[in-house]
Amino acid sequence: MISRKVAVIGAGAAGLVASRELRREGHEVVVFERSDRVGGIWVYNSNVESDPLGLDPSRAIIHSSLYESLRTNLPREVMGFRDYPFVAQMKDGRDPRRFPHHTEVLHYLEDFANYFGLIELIQFENEVIYVGLSEEGEQLKNSWVVRTRKKGEAGSNSCVANDVFDAVVVCSGHYTQPNIAEIPGIDAWPGKQLHSHSYRVPEPFSGQVVLLIGNRASASDICNEISTVAKEVHVASRSTMNVLPIKRLGNSNVWRHSMVKCAQEDGTVVFSDGSLVRVDVIVHCTGYKYYFPFLEISDIVSVDDNCVGPLYKHIFPPVLAPGLSFIGIPWMALPFPIFELKSKWVACVLSGRISLPSKEKMIEDVEAFYLQLKVAAIPKRYTHCLAENQFDYTDWLAAESGCQPWEEWRKQMYKERQRNATARPETYRDEWDDEDLIVQAHGDFGQYSP
Ligand code: FAD
Repeated sequence: MISRKVAVIGAGAAGLVASRELRREGHEVVVFERSDRVGGIWVYNSNVESDPLGLDPSRAIIHSSLYESLRTNLPREVMGFRDYPFVAQMKDGRDPRRFPHHTEVLHYLEDFANYFGLIELIQFENEVIYVGLSEEGEQLKNSWVVRTRKKGEAGSNSCVANDVFDAVVVCSGHYTQPNIAEIPGIDAWPGKQLHSHSYRVPEPFSGQVVLLIGNRASASDICNEISTVAKEVHVASRSTMNVLPIKRLGNSNVWRHSMVKCAQEDGTVVFSDGSLVRVDVIVHCTGYKYYFPFLEISDIVSVDDNCVGPLYKHIFPPVLAPGLSFIGIPWMALPFPIFELKSKWVACVLSGRISLPSKEKMIEDVEAFYLQLKVAAIPKRYTHCLAENQFDYTDWLAAESGCQPWEEWRKQMYKERQRNATARPETYRDEWDDEDLIVQAHGDFGQYSP
Protein backbone atom coordinates (compact mmCIF):
# COMPACT_ATOMS: atom_id res chain seq x y z
CA MET A 1 0.00 0.00 0.00
CA ILE A 2 1.26 3.44 -0.91
CA SER A 3 1.11 6.35 1.50
CA ARG A 4 0.33 9.67 -0.17
CA LYS A 5 0.59 13.21 1.04
CA VAL A 6 -3.01 14.41 0.83
CA ALA A 7 -4.57 17.86 1.27
CA VAL A 8 -8.19 17.96 2.43
CA ILE A 9 -10.04 21.24 1.90
CA GLY A 10 -12.58 21.90 4.66
CA ALA A 11 -13.26 20.52 8.14
CA GLY A 12 -17.02 20.06 7.92
CA ALA A 13 -18.62 16.61 8.08
CA ALA A 14 -17.06 15.60 4.74
CA GLY A 15 -13.55 16.83 5.54
CA LEU A 16 -13.58 15.25 8.99
CA VAL A 17 -14.57 11.80 7.86
CA ALA A 18 -12.32 12.02 4.78
CA SER A 19 -9.31 12.86 6.93
CA ARG A 20 -10.12 10.00 9.29
CA GLU A 21 -10.38 7.47 6.45
CA LEU A 22 -7.27 8.76 4.69
CA ARG A 23 -5.23 8.53 7.86
CA ARG A 24 -6.60 5.07 8.65
CA GLU A 25 -5.38 3.97 5.22
CA GLY A 26 -1.90 5.25 6.04
CA HIS A 27 -1.84 8.57 4.20
CA GLU A 28 -0.22 11.74 5.49
CA VAL A 29 -3.09 14.21 5.82
CA VAL A 30 -3.25 18.00 6.11
CA VAL A 31 -6.68 19.59 6.45
CA PHE A 32 -7.06 23.26 5.55
CA GLU A 33 -10.01 24.99 7.21
CA ARG A 34 -10.90 28.61 6.55
CA SER A 35 -12.69 29.12 9.88
CA ASP A 36 -11.43 28.66 13.42
CA ARG A 37 -13.34 25.47 14.25
CA VAL A 38 -14.68 22.21 12.84
CA GLY A 39 -18.31 21.64 11.80
CA GLY A 40 -18.71 23.64 8.57
CA ILE A 41 -22.34 24.45 7.87
CA TRP A 42 -23.29 23.42 11.44
CA VAL A 43 -21.45 26.39 12.96
CA TYR A 44 -24.38 28.80 13.30
CA ASN A 45 -23.66 32.46 12.62
CA SER A 46 -26.27 35.04 13.59
CA ASN A 47 -24.66 37.57 11.24
CA VAL A 48 -25.68 37.74 7.62
CA GLU A 49 -23.83 38.85 4.51
CA SER A 50 -23.93 42.50 3.40
CA ASP A 51 -25.77 41.46 0.21
CA PRO A 52 -28.78 39.35 1.31
CA LEU A 53 -29.01 37.83 -2.18
CA GLY A 54 -25.33 36.85 -2.19
CA LEU A 55 -24.70 38.40 -5.59
CA ASP A 56 -21.98 40.93 -4.74
CA PRO A 57 -18.66 39.13 -5.38
CA SER A 58 -16.81 41.49 -2.98
CA ARG A 59 -19.03 40.65 0.03
CA ALA A 60 -17.51 38.94 3.06
CA ILE A 61 -18.79 35.36 2.90
CA ILE A 62 -20.70 33.85 5.81
CA HIS A 63 -20.34 30.10 5.40
CA SER A 64 -23.33 28.83 7.35
CA SER A 65 -26.89 28.85 6.05
CA LEU A 66 -28.59 27.77 9.27
CA TYR A 67 -31.52 29.63 10.78
CA GLU A 68 -31.66 30.05 14.51
CA SER A 69 -34.43 27.52 15.18
CA LEU A 70 -33.25 24.83 12.74
CA ARG A 71 -33.73 21.23 13.78
CA THR A 72 -32.39 18.41 11.62
CA ASN A 73 -34.65 17.19 8.87
CA LEU A 74 -33.32 13.63 9.25
CA PRO A 75 -33.62 11.41 12.33
CA ARG A 76 -30.34 11.16 14.19
CA GLU A 77 -30.11 7.36 13.75
CA VAL A 78 -29.64 7.65 9.97
CA MET A 79 -27.64 10.87 10.08
CA GLY A 80 -24.56 9.73 11.95
CA PHE A 81 -21.43 8.08 10.65
CA ARG A 82 -21.77 4.33 10.70
CA ASP A 83 -19.12 3.52 13.29
CA TYR A 84 -19.73 6.60 15.43
CA PRO A 85 -23.51 6.62 15.93
CA PHE A 86 -25.28 9.91 16.59
CA VAL A 87 -26.92 8.75 19.82
CA ALA A 88 -28.67 11.00 22.33
CA GLN A 89 -26.55 12.13 25.26
CA MET A 90 -28.22 12.97 28.53
CA LYS A 91 -25.84 15.77 29.47
CA ASP A 92 -26.29 19.47 30.08
CA GLY A 93 -26.33 21.49 26.89
CA ARG A 94 -27.20 18.51 24.71
CA ASP A 95 -30.47 18.00 22.83
CA PRO A 96 -31.59 14.36 23.10
CA ARG A 97 -34.47 14.71 20.63
CA ARG A 98 -34.59 12.43 17.62
CA PHE A 99 -34.53 15.44 15.24
CA PRO A 100 -32.33 17.69 17.36
CA HIS A 101 -31.52 21.39 17.22
CA HIS A 102 -28.56 22.29 14.99
CA THR A 103 -26.29 22.85 18.02
CA GLU A 104 -26.49 19.13 18.74
CA VAL A 105 -25.07 18.26 15.31
CA LEU A 106 -22.15 20.60 15.92
CA HIS A 107 -21.51 18.89 19.28
CA TYR A 108 -21.58 15.52 17.51
CA LEU A 109 -19.06 16.62 14.86
CA GLU A 110 -16.78 18.12 17.52
CA ASP A 111 -17.01 14.87 19.52
CA PHE A 112 -16.20 12.91 16.37
CA ALA A 113 -13.15 15.09 15.62
CA ASN A 114 -11.87 14.81 19.20
CA TYR A 115 -12.54 11.08 19.52
CA PHE A 116 -10.53 10.27 16.39
CA GLY A 117 -7.78 12.82 17.12
CA LEU A 118 -8.46 14.78 13.95
CA ILE A 119 -7.85 18.26 15.36
CA GLU A 120 -4.09 17.78 15.10
CA LEU A 121 -4.44 17.35 11.32
CA ILE A 122 -6.23 20.67 10.81
CA GLN A 123 -4.68 24.01 9.94
CA PHE A 124 -7.40 26.40 11.09
CA GLU A 125 -7.94 29.88 9.63
CA ASN A 126 -6.14 28.76 6.50
CA GLU A 127 -8.13 29.37 3.36
CA VAL A 128 -7.19 27.49 0.21
CA ILE A 129 -7.01 30.09 -2.53
CA TYR A 130 -5.49 28.05 -5.33
CA VAL A 131 -5.27 24.40 -6.33
CA GLY A 132 -3.42 23.57 -9.54
CA LEU A 133 -1.32 20.89 -11.15
CA SER A 134 2.37 20.93 -10.40
CA GLU A 135 5.12 19.96 -12.82
CA GLU A 136 7.10 18.26 -10.07
CA GLY A 137 4.94 15.17 -9.51
CA GLU A 138 6.63 11.81 -9.48
CA GLN A 139 4.40 9.45 -7.54
CA LEU A 140 1.11 9.96 -9.31
CA LYS A 141 0.82 11.16 -12.85
CA ASN A 142 0.29 14.61 -11.36
CA SER A 143 0.91 16.36 -8.14
CA TRP A 144 -0.78 19.42 -6.82
CA VAL A 145 0.16 22.85 -5.62
CA VAL A 146 -2.10 24.08 -2.83
CA ARG A 147 -1.83 27.74 -1.95
CA THR A 148 -3.29 28.92 1.34
CA ARG A 149 -3.78 32.28 3.04
CA LYS A 150 -3.85 32.77 6.79
CA LYS A 151 -6.88 34.67 8.11
CA GLY A 152 -6.52 38.43 8.44
CA GLU A 153 -3.64 38.59 6.03
CA ALA A 154 -5.44 39.20 2.76
CA GLY A 155 -3.38 41.19 0.30
CA SER A 156 -0.07 40.37 1.94
CA ASN A 157 2.10 38.04 -0.15
CA SER A 158 4.27 37.03 2.78
CA CYS A 159 1.42 35.13 4.45
CA VAL A 160 0.56 33.05 1.42
CA ALA A 161 2.00 29.55 1.64
CA ASN A 162 2.45 27.01 -1.14
CA ASP A 163 2.81 23.31 -0.59
CA VAL A 164 2.85 20.34 -2.94
CA PHE A 165 0.62 17.29 -2.43
CA ASP A 166 0.13 13.98 -4.19
CA ALA A 167 -3.62 14.39 -3.99
CA VAL A 168 -6.31 16.91 -3.06
CA VAL A 169 -9.68 15.95 -1.61
CA VAL A 170 -12.25 18.73 -1.93
CA CYS A 171 -14.69 18.97 1.01
CA SER A 172 -15.51 22.67 0.86
CA GLY A 173 -19.31 22.35 1.03
CA HIS A 174 -22.02 23.55 -1.35
CA TYR A 175 -24.58 25.37 0.76
CA THR A 176 -23.08 28.85 0.75
CA GLN A 177 -23.45 30.35 -2.75
CA PRO A 178 -27.13 31.26 -3.22
CA ASN A 179 -29.01 30.31 -6.34
CA ILE A 180 -31.60 32.99 -7.10
CA ALA A 181 -34.87 32.61 -9.03
CA GLU A 182 -34.92 34.67 -12.20
CA ILE A 183 -37.97 36.92 -12.12
CA PRO A 184 -38.79 39.14 -15.10
CA GLY A 185 -39.37 42.73 -13.98
CA ILE A 186 -37.64 42.28 -10.61
CA ASP A 187 -35.32 45.26 -11.09
CA ALA A 188 -38.27 47.66 -11.06
CA TRP A 189 -40.10 45.85 -8.23
CA PRO A 190 -39.85 48.00 -5.05
CA GLY A 191 -39.86 45.32 -2.31
CA LYS A 192 -37.06 43.60 -0.37
CA GLN A 193 -35.42 40.33 -1.37
CA LEU A 194 -33.20 37.85 0.38
CA HIS A 195 -32.03 34.27 -0.05
CA SER A 196 -32.70 31.70 2.68
CA HIS A 197 -28.90 31.71 3.22
CA SER A 198 -29.49 35.06 4.95
CA TYR A 199 -32.62 34.08 6.89
CA ARG A 200 -32.10 33.69 10.64
CA VAL A 201 -35.25 34.61 12.62
CA PRO A 202 -38.90 35.42 11.77
CA GLU A 203 -39.31 38.73 13.69
CA PRO A 204 -38.27 41.07 10.83
CA PHE A 205 -41.21 39.68 8.80
CA SER A 206 -43.81 40.69 11.35
CA GLY A 207 -46.96 42.06 9.67
CA GLN A 208 -45.46 41.66 6.19
CA VAL A 209 -46.73 39.94 3.08
CA VAL A 210 -44.00 37.44 2.30
CA LEU A 211 -43.44 35.39 -0.85
CA LEU A 212 -41.30 32.27 -0.46
CA ILE A 213 -39.98 30.70 -3.65
CA GLY A 214 -39.12 26.99 -3.40
CA ASN A 215 -40.59 23.80 -2.02
CA ARG A 216 -37.85 21.92 -0.20
CA ALA A 217 -37.01 21.60 3.49
CA SER A 218 -35.92 25.22 4.02
CA ALA A 219 -38.99 26.66 2.29
CA SER A 220 -41.23 24.48 4.42
CA ASP A 221 -39.49 25.32 7.72
CA ILE A 222 -39.27 29.03 6.98
CA CYS A 223 -42.92 29.09 5.89
CA ASN A 224 -44.06 27.48 9.13
CA GLU A 225 -41.98 29.90 11.16
CA ILE A 226 -42.72 33.14 9.30
CA SER A 227 -46.44 32.43 9.12
CA THR A 228 -46.61 32.85 12.90
CA VAL A 229 -45.73 36.55 12.61
CA ALA A 230 -46.36 37.60 8.98
CA LYS A 231 -49.63 38.98 7.68
CA GLU A 232 -49.63 36.55 4.76
CA VAL A 233 -47.20 33.96 3.41
CA HIS A 234 -47.36 32.94 -0.25
CA VAL A 235 -45.35 29.96 -1.43
CA ALA A 236 -44.50 29.63 -5.12
CA SER A 237 -42.79 26.61 -6.60
CA ARG A 238 -42.08 25.07 -9.98
CA SER A 239 -43.62 21.77 -9.01
CA THR A 240 -47.11 23.20 -8.49
CA MET A 241 -47.09 24.73 -11.97
CA ASN A 242 -50.57 25.62 -13.22
CA VAL A 243 -52.19 24.76 -9.90
CA LEU A 244 -54.58 27.40 -8.64
CA PRO A 245 -53.68 29.10 -5.37
CA ILE A 246 -54.58 26.82 -2.46
CA LYS A 247 -55.15 28.05 1.03
CA ARG A 248 -53.37 25.58 3.25
CA LEU A 249 -55.58 23.77 5.70
CA GLY A 250 -55.18 24.73 9.31
CA ASN A 251 -52.93 27.65 8.53
CA SER A 252 -55.13 30.51 7.49
CA ASN A 253 -52.45 32.91 6.29
CA VAL A 254 -50.53 30.56 3.97
CA TRP A 255 -51.26 30.16 0.26
CA ARG A 256 -49.66 27.93 -2.36
CA HIS A 257 -49.07 29.18 -5.87
CA SER A 258 -47.66 28.15 -9.20
CA MET A 259 -44.33 29.67 -10.27
CA VAL A 260 -43.78 33.42 -10.41
CA LYS A 261 -44.31 34.88 -13.88
CA CYS A 262 -43.10 38.41 -13.21
CA ALA A 263 -42.81 41.19 -10.65
CA GLN A 264 -44.19 44.66 -11.30
CA GLU A 265 -43.34 48.23 -10.43
CA ASP A 266 -46.52 48.62 -8.34
CA GLY A 267 -45.25 45.99 -5.85
CA THR A 268 -47.33 43.10 -7.15
CA VAL A 269 -46.08 39.68 -8.17
CA VAL A 270 -47.91 37.78 -10.91
CA PHE A 271 -48.00 33.96 -10.89
CA SER A 272 -48.10 31.74 -13.96
CA ASP A 273 -51.76 30.89 -13.30
CA GLY A 274 -52.57 34.59 -13.69
CA SER A 275 -53.19 35.33 -10.01
CA LEU A 276 -51.56 38.37 -8.48
CA VAL A 277 -50.47 39.43 -4.98
CA ARG A 278 -48.93 42.60 -3.56
CA VAL A 279 -45.79 41.45 -1.77
CA ASP A 280 -43.42 43.17 0.70
CA VAL A 281 -40.58 40.64 0.79
CA ILE A 282 -39.41 37.79 -1.44
CA VAL A 283 -37.39 35.01 0.19
CA HIS A 284 -35.59 32.83 -2.36
CA CYS A 285 -35.48 29.29 -0.93
CA THR A 286 -34.05 28.17 -4.23
CA GLY A 287 -30.98 26.23 -3.22
CA TYR A 288 -27.30 26.74 -3.73
CA LYS A 289 -24.63 26.61 -6.39
CA TYR A 290 -21.51 24.49 -6.40
CA TYR A 291 -18.59 26.86 -6.28
CA PHE A 292 -14.86 26.09 -6.28
CA PRO A 293 -13.11 29.46 -6.72
CA PHE A 294 -9.73 27.92 -5.82
CA LEU A 295 -9.70 25.32 -8.62
CA GLU A 296 -7.35 26.35 -11.38
CA ILE A 297 -8.32 23.46 -13.64
CA SER A 298 -11.75 24.82 -14.51
CA ASP A 299 -11.29 23.71 -18.11
CA ILE A 300 -11.16 20.08 -16.90
CA VAL A 301 -13.77 20.15 -14.12
CA SER A 302 -16.50 22.74 -14.45
CA VAL A 303 -19.90 23.56 -13.03
CA ASP A 304 -22.65 23.74 -15.62
CA ASP A 305 -26.27 24.16 -14.54
CA ASN A 306 -25.21 22.92 -11.11
CA CYS A 307 -23.67 19.75 -12.45
CA VAL A 308 -20.03 19.35 -11.40
CA GLY A 309 -18.35 17.41 -14.10
CA PRO A 310 -17.30 15.25 -15.49
CA LEU A 311 -17.05 13.23 -12.28
CA TYR A 312 -16.77 9.45 -12.20
CA LYS A 313 -19.24 8.24 -9.54
CA HIS A 314 -19.66 11.85 -8.34
CA ILE A 315 -16.04 11.72 -7.11
CA PHE A 316 -13.14 11.63 -9.58
CA PRO A 317 -12.64 13.78 -12.69
CA PRO A 318 -11.45 10.95 -15.01
CA VAL A 319 -8.56 12.94 -16.49
CA LEU A 320 -7.19 13.91 -13.07
CA ALA A 321 -8.00 10.76 -11.09
CA PRO A 322 -7.02 9.82 -8.52
CA GLY A 323 -5.15 13.03 -7.65
CA LEU A 324 -8.29 15.13 -7.35
CA SER A 325 -11.52 14.00 -5.73
CA PHE A 326 -14.74 15.49 -4.35
CA ILE A 327 -16.55 14.14 -1.30
CA GLY A 328 -19.52 16.32 -0.41
CA ILE A 329 -21.23 16.52 -3.81
CA PRO A 330 -24.47 14.45 -3.54
CA TRP A 331 -27.70 15.94 -2.21
CA MET A 332 -31.16 14.57 -1.29
CA ALA A 333 -29.44 11.72 0.50
CA LEU A 334 -27.93 10.76 3.85
CA PRO A 335 -24.90 13.06 3.72
CA PHE A 336 -22.69 11.87 6.58
CA PRO A 337 -22.80 8.10 5.89
CA ILE A 338 -22.36 8.75 2.16
CA PHE A 339 -19.31 10.92 2.85
CA GLU A 340 -17.97 8.09 4.98
CA LEU A 341 -18.25 5.51 2.17
CA LYS A 342 -16.92 7.87 -0.49
CA SER A 343 -13.95 8.68 1.73
CA LYS A 344 -13.16 5.00 2.30
CA TRP A 345 -13.16 4.42 -1.44
CA VAL A 346 -10.96 7.45 -2.19
CA ALA A 347 -8.50 6.46 0.56
CA CYS A 348 -8.24 2.90 -0.86
CA VAL A 349 -7.84 4.13 -4.45
CA LEU A 350 -5.03 6.46 -3.37
CA SER A 351 -3.23 3.69 -1.51
CA GLY A 352 -3.47 1.41 -4.54
CA ARG A 353 -5.62 -1.12 -2.70
CA ILE A 354 -8.39 -0.47 -5.26
CA SER A 355 -7.73 0.20 -8.93
CA LEU A 356 -9.79 2.62 -10.96
CA PRO A 357 -10.86 1.70 -14.48
CA SER A 358 -8.91 3.34 -17.31
CA LYS A 359 -9.53 7.03 -18.00
CA GLU A 360 -11.47 6.06 -21.16
CA LYS A 361 -13.71 3.64 -19.24
CA MET A 362 -14.44 6.26 -16.58
CA ILE A 363 -15.34 8.82 -19.26
CA GLU A 364 -17.61 6.22 -20.89
CA ASP A 365 -19.29 5.58 -17.53
CA VAL A 366 -19.93 9.29 -16.94
CA GLU A 367 -21.30 9.73 -20.45
CA ALA A 368 -23.59 6.72 -20.03
CA PHE A 369 -24.86 8.24 -16.76
CA TYR A 370 -25.52 11.61 -18.42
CA LEU A 371 -27.38 9.85 -21.23
CA GLN A 372 -29.48 7.96 -18.70
CA LEU A 373 -30.50 11.27 -17.10
CA LYS A 374 -31.29 12.78 -20.48
CA VAL A 375 -33.44 9.83 -21.57
CA ALA A 376 -35.34 10.05 -18.28
CA ALA A 377 -35.80 13.83 -18.91
CA ILE A 378 -34.04 14.64 -15.65
CA PRO A 379 -32.66 18.18 -15.81
CA LYS A 380 -28.90 18.58 -15.54
CA ARG A 381 -29.20 20.43 -12.26
CA TYR A 382 -30.40 17.15 -10.68
CA THR A 383 -27.24 15.24 -11.66
CA HIS A 384 -26.07 14.94 -8.05
CA CYS A 385 -29.54 14.50 -6.52
CA LEU A 386 -29.49 10.90 -5.34
CA ALA A 387 -32.80 10.34 -3.52
CA GLU A 388 -33.79 6.65 -3.86
CA ASN A 389 -30.76 5.99 -6.10
CA GLN A 390 -28.49 6.53 -3.13
CA PHE A 391 -28.97 2.94 -2.00
CA ASP A 392 -27.60 1.38 -5.22
CA TYR A 393 -24.83 3.94 -5.14
CA THR A 394 -23.82 3.22 -1.55
CA ASP A 395 -24.12 -0.55 -2.07
CA TRP A 396 -21.69 -0.15 -4.97
CA LEU A 397 -19.28 1.98 -2.91
CA ALA A 398 -19.41 -0.49 -0.01
CA ALA A 399 -18.74 -3.48 -2.28
CA GLU A 400 -15.84 -1.65 -3.95
CA SER A 401 -14.31 -0.70 -0.61
CA GLY A 402 -14.80 -4.15 0.88
CA CYS A 403 -17.11 -3.02 3.69
CA GLN A 404 -20.62 -3.97 4.74
CA PRO A 405 -23.48 -2.35 2.82
CA TRP A 406 -25.74 0.03 4.70
CA GLU A 407 -27.99 -1.65 7.22
CA GLU A 408 -31.51 -2.42 6.00
CA TRP A 409 -33.04 -0.32 8.81
CA ARG A 410 -31.11 2.75 7.59
CA LYS A 411 -32.57 2.43 4.10
CA GLN A 412 -36.07 1.82 5.41
CA MET A 413 -35.84 4.65 7.93
CA TYR A 414 -34.86 7.11 5.21
CA LYS A 415 -37.91 6.09 3.15
CA GLU A 416 -40.15 6.17 6.20
CA ARG A 417 -38.93 9.67 7.05
CA GLN A 418 -39.83 10.82 3.51
CA ARG A 419 -43.30 9.33 3.88
CA ASN A 420 -43.84 10.79 7.32
CA ALA A 421 -42.61 14.27 6.33
CA THR A 422 -45.11 14.30 3.45
CA ALA A 423 -47.94 13.05 5.64
CA ARG A 424 -47.14 15.32 8.60
CA PRO A 425 -45.16 18.26 7.18
CA GLU A 426 -45.46 20.30 10.35
CA THR A 427 -45.01 17.60 12.99
CA TYR A 428 -42.87 14.84 11.46
CA ARG A 429 -39.98 15.75 13.75
CA ASP A 430 -42.02 14.87 16.83
CA GLU A 431 -44.43 12.16 15.63
CA TRP A 432 -43.46 8.97 13.79
CA ASP A 433 -44.42 5.35 13.28
CA ASP A 434 -41.04 3.61 12.90
CA GLU A 435 -40.26 2.64 16.49
CA ASP A 436 -39.32 -0.86 15.27
CA LEU A 437 -36.58 0.61 13.07
CA ILE A 438 -35.24 2.67 15.97
CA VAL A 439 -34.95 -0.52 18.03
CA GLN A 440 -33.05 -2.23 15.19
CA ALA A 441 -30.74 0.78 14.84
CA HIS A 442 -29.88 0.75 18.54
CA GLY A 443 -29.26 -2.99 18.31
CA ASP A 444 -26.52 -2.22 15.78
CA PHE A 445 -25.15 0.85 17.58
CA GLY A 446 -24.14 -1.30 20.55
CA GLN A 447 -21.19 -2.68 18.61
CA TYR A 448 -19.75 0.77 17.89
CA SER A 449 -20.34 2.82 21.02
CA PRO A 450 -17.07 4.28 22.27
P1 FAD B 1 -19.71 22.07 5.05
O1 FAD B 1 -20.34 21.65 6.28
O2 FAD B 1 -20.21 23.28 4.37
O3 FAD B 1 -18.15 22.23 5.34
C1 FAD B 1 -17.26 22.79 4.42
C2 FAD B 1 -16.06 23.37 5.18
O4 FAD B 1 -15.09 23.80 4.21
C3 FAD B 1 -16.41 24.59 6.01
O5 FAD B 1 -15.90 24.42 7.31
C4 FAD B 1 -15.71 25.74 5.29
O6 FAD B 1 -15.27 26.76 6.18
C5 FAD B 1 -14.55 25.04 4.62
N1 FAD B 1 -14.06 25.71 3.42
C6 FAD B 1 -14.78 26.12 2.34
N2 FAD B 1 -13.96 26.67 1.41
C7 FAD B 1 -12.72 26.60 1.92
C8 FAD B 1 -11.45 27.02 1.43
N3 FAD B 1 -11.31 27.59 0.24
N4 FAD B 1 -10.37 26.82 2.20
C9 FAD B 1 -10.46 26.21 3.43
N5 FAD B 1 -11.67 25.81 3.95
C10 FAD B 1 -12.76 26.00 3.20
N6 FAD B 1 -27.73 17.25 6.46
C11 FAD B 1 -28.15 16.28 7.30
O7 FAD B 1 -27.57 15.20 7.35
N7 FAD B 1 -29.25 16.49 8.12
C12 FAD B 1 -29.90 17.67 8.15
O8 FAD B 1 -30.86 17.82 8.89
C13 FAD B 1 -29.45 18.72 7.29
N8 FAD B 1 -30.05 19.93 7.32
C14 FAD B 1 -29.54 20.95 6.55
C15 FAD B 1 -30.12 22.20 6.61
C16 FAD B 1 -29.63 23.26 5.88
C17 FAD B 1 -30.27 24.60 5.96
C18 FAD B 1 -28.52 23.04 5.01
C19 FAD B 1 -27.96 24.16 4.18
C20 FAD B 1 -27.94 21.78 4.91
C21 FAD B 1 -28.43 20.72 5.68
N9 FAD B 1 -27.87 19.45 5.62
C22 FAD B 1 -28.33 18.45 6.44
C23 FAD B 1 -26.79 19.14 4.69
C24 FAD B 1 -25.41 19.45 5.32
O9 FAD B 1 -24.91 20.51 4.63
C25 FAD B 1 -24.53 18.26 5.22
O10 FAD B 1 -25.06 17.31 6.11
C26 FAD B 1 -23.08 18.40 5.62
O11 FAD B 1 -22.98 18.97 6.91
C27 FAD B 1 -22.22 19.12 4.61
O12 FAD B 1 -20.89 18.91 5.00
P2 FAD B 1 -19.66 19.35 4.10
O13 FAD B 1 -18.45 18.99 4.89
O14 FAD B 1 -19.81 18.81 2.73
O15 FAD B 1 -19.77 20.93 3.96
